[in-house]
Amino acid sequence: MSAPKAPAKPAILSVDDDPGVSRAVVRDLRKRYGEKYRIIRAESGDQALETLREMKLRGDAVAVIVADYRMPGLSGIEFLEQAMDLYPVARRVLLTAYADTDAAIDAINVVDLDHYLLKPWDPPEEKLYPVIDALLDAWASSSHHPAEETKVIGHRWSERSSDVREFLARNQLAYRWYMSDEPEGQRLLSAAGTDELRLPVVIASNGDVLVEPTDAELADKLGLSTTLSEDFYDLVVIGGGPAGLGAALYGASEGLRTVLIERRATGGQAGQSSRIENYLGFPDGVSGAQLADRARRQATKFGAEVITARDVTGLEINGSARTVRFDDGSSVDAHSVILATGVSYRQLSAPGLDTYTGRGVYYGSAVTEAARCSEQDVYIVGGANSAGQAAVYLSRGARSVTILIRGNSLEASMSYYLIQQIEKNPKITVRTCTEVVGAEGDDHLERITLRNRATGEEDTVDAQWLFIFIGAAPLTDWLGDVVVRDGNGFVLAGPDLPSEGVTPDGWPLDRAPHHLETSVPGVFVAGDVHAESAKRVASAVGEGAMAVMFVHRYLAQQ
Ligand SMILES: Cc1cc2nc3c(=O)[nH]c(=O)nc-3n(C[C@H](O)[C@H](O)[C@H](O)COP(=O)(O)OP(=O)(O)OC[C@H]3O[C@@H](n4cnc5c(N)ncnc54)[C@H](O)[C@@H]3O)c2cc1C
Repeated sequence: MSAPKAPAKPAILSVDDDPGVSRAVVRDLRKRYGEKYRIIRAESGDQALETLREMKLRGDAVAVIVADYRMPGLSGIEFLEQAMDLYPVARRVLLTAYADTDAAIDAINVVDLDHYLLKPWDPPEEKLYPVIDALLDAWASSSHHPAEETKVIGHRWSERSSDVREFLARNQLAYRWYMSDEPEGQRLLSAAGTDELRLPVVIASNGDVLVEPTDAELADKLGLSTTLSEDFYDLVVIGGGPAGLGAALYGASEGLRTVLIERRATGGQAGQSSRIENYLGFPDGVSGAQLADRARRQATKFGAEVITARDVTGLEINGSARTVRFDDGSSVDAHSVILATGVSYRQLSAPGLDTYTGRGVYYGSAVTEAARCSEQDVYIVGGANSAGQAAVYLSRGARSVTILIRGNSLEASMSYYLIQQIEKNPKITVRTCTEVVGAEGDDHLERITLRNRATGEEDTVDAQWLFIFIGAAPLTDWLGDVVVRDGNGFVLAGPDLPSEGVTPDGWPLDRAPHHLETSVPGVFVAGDVHAESAKRVASAVGEGAMAVMFVHRYLAQQ
């Protein structure tokens, strides 16, 4: 009997039309990575795609793809764009000559590029290997997830099916999507012993079947941490957006026993961004998913516990302990708490819209739904950066993108760099002074009615895809009267707390509250949920780090 075949090593694929360069890249890669990875070489984008397709059919893993920018036929960018569909979690590097750098940077919006590398890369120990090492690390931590083979079977126009896909995508859990009314979907449903009446159905890699699962059930089954390992911490961080991840990272790295609790997916709003271009240290921009992935790995590397799919519903003060309560009634105690719960999109109100949420009407979700809008007409409501980014991103595949704004222009609400990208993009139109006043359809959105706010004129247009990015509201009702909030629900802190004397009203200590300290000593706030905050990734991360400094001061005074 022959021994079972060892699984193929994961691959690093290099594609370059210049045989000399191609051989040199492969030589350097083989020298360092040859033992653990197969180094595969292709000399054109088409040849590389063919190779990737064959590998996909065989079920081979691809860790990193290195593509030359300037190639005859498919350019490096065009090739990477198609390679992403085959191997979405493989890390992508573009090889460019100095003269092409600007063009490469411009084109980076198109593919979710991890790095661009200038030729020549000598010495590889300094220029090539550190980049590839980091990318292999990132790939290893995302792609070997137990959820690799997860299958989701759902209806194309079902709100919960769309929700489940977004939950998996935002938590970087790879899955394959099957429509329940197509033969493969039906085959899987019958193999799972269930039917189309209760969707979505999720089949985990070990064959376990979840019918209409909750986020917590999905998280549990697919290997995300949902249970706290201790019952007392130095610091509990509530919210896993940039502010919470920043706080968890600094808390844990400075020796505090730290746990971060996130209700849905780490990354928060930033995790939904197709490309953040104004965050320091990323001159070529970074996708929200990548930023979230890196930040989460960095925080856990320093020892922070990251808990997902747990909703915090209460905060209590029990002597010196701060008790954080969860929706299932359980709780955890800590010396200190950082509130980093951010904001959520406001719901757009117009007759019919609610009926089609998740069935043509989406709040955020542009990244998850993009593939389904291919060659279709898309409408986006909102004039801020989030709407602009979504328009640019969706225009890659959509036939047309129309941005609907109530005001006269984008200038008051959107960054200049995005306005420029929109102006240059022939697929994007901006319709000013316009609001959505109605939505109609059958089992999914089919038409929307638009009203011109200046003339009052209304017209109804065919529309299957409406993405809404309007304003943002803090969801802080669960805090009740425990901490002082402003009239819109944002949390007040430090010098902003209402005060008629030297210290804020009701403040129990002799000292004044620290800068990010709320009306409860030991409870701090950071990021978008903080009243008058900047609503930027950088400021949220900065406040998360600062809040930890004040936690140390608070603990030292206890
Ligand atoms: C599409 C989009 C694009 C953007 N692009 C940019 C950009 O290019 N540049 C830029 O600087 N900014 C950008 N922003 C803004 C930026 O993302 C936010 O300012 C930033 O994410 C705020 O971080 P935060 O941690 O304070 O809050 P959030 O990112 O909102 O994170 C809060 C987290 O807390 C969780 N949470 C809330 N309540 C609870 C609870 N009760 N229990 C447990 N968890 C809870 C939420 O699920 C969420 O994950 C963008 C925003 C969006 C939506």
